[in-house]
Formats: sequence, C-alpha cells, structure tokens
Amino acid sequence: MNYLIIGSGVAAIAAIEAVRSIDKLGGVTLIGEDPHGFYSRPGLAYYLTGELHDKALYPRTAEDYRRMNFRFVKGRVKSILRGQAQVEMEDGRFIPYDKLMIAVGAQAMPLQVPGADLEGVLKLDHMEDARRILKSVRRGRTAVVLGGGITALETHAVTDYADIFSAVVLVDITPKVENAGSRRIVSFMMANPDGFADLTEAAAAIAEYNPHRPPPSSTAGLAKVLRQGEDGRWRWHWDPQFIATRAALMLEDPAAWEAERAERADRLHLSAGALKAPLLLIRGLLSDLVSDEAVAALRAAAPQAEYVDVRGAGHMVAGDDNDAFTSAVLGFLDRHVRPTP
Ligand SMILES: Cc1cc2nc3c(=O)[nH]c(=O)nc-3n(C[C@H](O)[C@H](O)[C@H](O)COP(=O)(O)OP(=O)(O)OC[C@H]3O[C@@H](n4cnc5c(N)ncnc54)[C@H](O)[C@@H]3O)c2cc1C
Repeated sequence: MNYLIIGSGVAAIAAIEAVRSIDKLGGVTLIGEDPHGFYSRPGLAYYLTGELHDKALYPRTAEDYRRMNFRFVKGRVKSILRGQAQVEMEDGRFIPYDKLMIAVGAQAMPLQVPGADLEGVLKLDHMEDARRILKSVRRGRTAVVLGGGITALETHAVTDYADIFSAVVLVDITPKVENAGSRRIVSFMMANPDGFADLTEAAAAIAEYNPHRPPPSSTAGLAKVLRQGEDGRWRWHWDPQFIATRAALMLEDPAAWEAERAERADRLHLSAGALKAPLLLIRGLLSDLVSDEAVAALRAAAPQAEYVDVRGAGHMVAGDDNDAFTSAVLGFLDRHVRPTP
C-alpha cells in the first residue's frame, strides 16, 4: 500500500504515525512546500519574542523521522488526478498513490483592502512570515497590529520589540465573548450543510440573520465567502469540520466550553492590560458577541483602551458600515501612529 500525504504540518506528521501504528511496511510519501519542513506554528509567536530559539520550534529529530520511515518530497501539489490515482506537482512531476490524505492546513486570510499588498504589510502564518516580521521590525520604527486574536495580543504583550508597536485595533471582539452570540453564529453557519442554490438564496439567509443590514445592490461580493461545489451548490468557504468541531464542543459539554472561554478571557485581559500601545475597540452596537459587560471588563483590564461604537452595525462592523469602520481606524491611527521620519 502506498500512502501519500500532502502537507508537512502537525496533521501530516500525526497521520504518518497513525499509518505506521497499523502498517509498518507500506510506502509513505509526504509532500510539503514549506522549505522549513515541520515546525511548531504556535511557537512562531514565541520565536518572534525571542523566548524560543528557532531550533526549539522543531519538535521532531532526524532520528524520529528515520524511525517513521517515509519519503519526503519538497514541492507544491498543483492538482489531484483522482482517476489516475496520482498527483501532479507544480514542477511537472507526477506521484502515484493508493491512499491519499490532504493535510494542507489553513492560511491567514489576506486583508481585503486597498494597499494590503504594499511592502510592510505582513501576516504571521509561517516561518518565512516570522522572519520577514523580524527583519522589518529591526529596521522599522512604528508598527500597527490589526486584529485582536490571541496571537495579536500575546505577540504584542511580550515582544522585545513592543516599543515599536504603535496601536492595536480590536474589531468587534473582546477577551470575553458572549456565549449566546457565539452559539447563534455557529448555528447560522451550520444551518445549511447542503449549501444554497445560488448567491441570491445565500443573500436571503444573511438578510434573515442580519435584518438590520440594508440589502446589498449586488450579490457578487458573496462569491468571496461562498464557494461553488461540483454539485453546483454554494457553501460557506469556511472549513465545515472547523465549524462542526466548535459546535460539538459547545453542545456536548457546554460547561467545559464556557469554562475554557472564561479562562481564555482572563488570559487575554492580562495581555490587554500589559499592552503599552494605544488600544482601540470598534464595536457594532447591535453586536451579539460584544456586550456592555464585556466592554466594561476590557475597560477595567486595559484602562488605556479607546472605544468607538458603530450605530446600526452588528458583529461584522466593516460589512455593515465600512465608512464608519474606516474612519474610526484612520482617526485612531492619525492620533497615535508616529509618522516614520
Ligand atoms: C502564530 C500562530 C499561532 C498559533 N497558535 C495556536 C495555538 O496556540 N493553539 C492551537 O491549537 N493552534 C494554534 N495555531 C494554529 C495551528 O498552528 C494550526 O491549527 C496547525 O498548524 C494546523 O496544522 P495542519 O497540519 O492541519 O496544517 P498546517 O500547519 O497549516 O500545515 C499544512 C502544510 O501544508 C503545506 N501545503 C499547503 N498546500 C500545499 C500544497 N498544495 N502542496 C504541498 N504542500 C502544501 C503548507 O505549506 C503547510 O506547511 C497557531 C497558528 C499560528 C500561525
């Protein structure tokens, strides 16, 4: 049996171990495009801060790989030819398989605003991104962290380079997230597992979820968040397994789920309080994720925080009122970000 695994992340490595636990002799080939092979992506935040040396990001040794007994092919898979049971590589090679596993992970969503492709606009996804950030930080004077997830807050709070961060913007998210709102969103995402016949049908579902939002003049923008399957139906582009996993956690053990979120909120409040840079929260006043209580908790933890409430907007503030969102961010940056001389 020839097993072929695409991707060189933790899922791929776990898959090789699983195969080897039941089949010691079959051929295993792993195809990965990342020139750095398998390393801890969560560890990248600590690599940036200097808490982890790059060598510490590699959890497996050469001896571990030798024992796992697989062939590593460096490169990118271009297409899967199911009928011929082989994959085509970008460099023109073809690699056959009996069993194929796709473990290509996920990447940060690129910012979809004008200027997002300018030099100096960076994301943190892979080792190369981390190195690019370090390089920019060494020669840069100011930085803005856009986004308020764990990575943004923790990276900012502990980094040796914290002084260069000038501002952090949280967009309708606070350390404490309303559980009822999360449930509502996940229920919405799971409500149509068979997708929609067309974008108009999807727009109707969104209108029902967001009755406050005026209907868009065109449904073309929805093509960015839905994708059309081979059966012609449109489904949300988010990984259904990701949504299902969250739903399972919420539904099967709500007490444990809520306890975990409360613990995370405590941790993030500490991070927010440790921020040296100005912090802005932009909240949609109709948001069901960010409540007055959550704002008060953030205010107590991070008294330096500023707030902008966008009337008539819900959780997706920018989608509901992009002008109000943009002017809040730009006004904040104008007030706080030192221009690079
Ligand atoms: C900064 C940061 C912090 C994080 N912190 C946490 C955390 O605290 N806790 C947590 O649970 N998760 C965290 N995550 C998320 C976690 O790293 C991912 O969930 C995990 O890496 C997913 O593993 P994976 O093997 O599915 O995919 P990945 O790690 O994404 O690996 C997929 C691999 O497939 C390769 N690939 C993609 N397409 C192709 C192709 N066509 N051909 C060949 N190769 C391809 C990619 O280059 C990549 O190397 C963090 C992620 C980042 C970036």
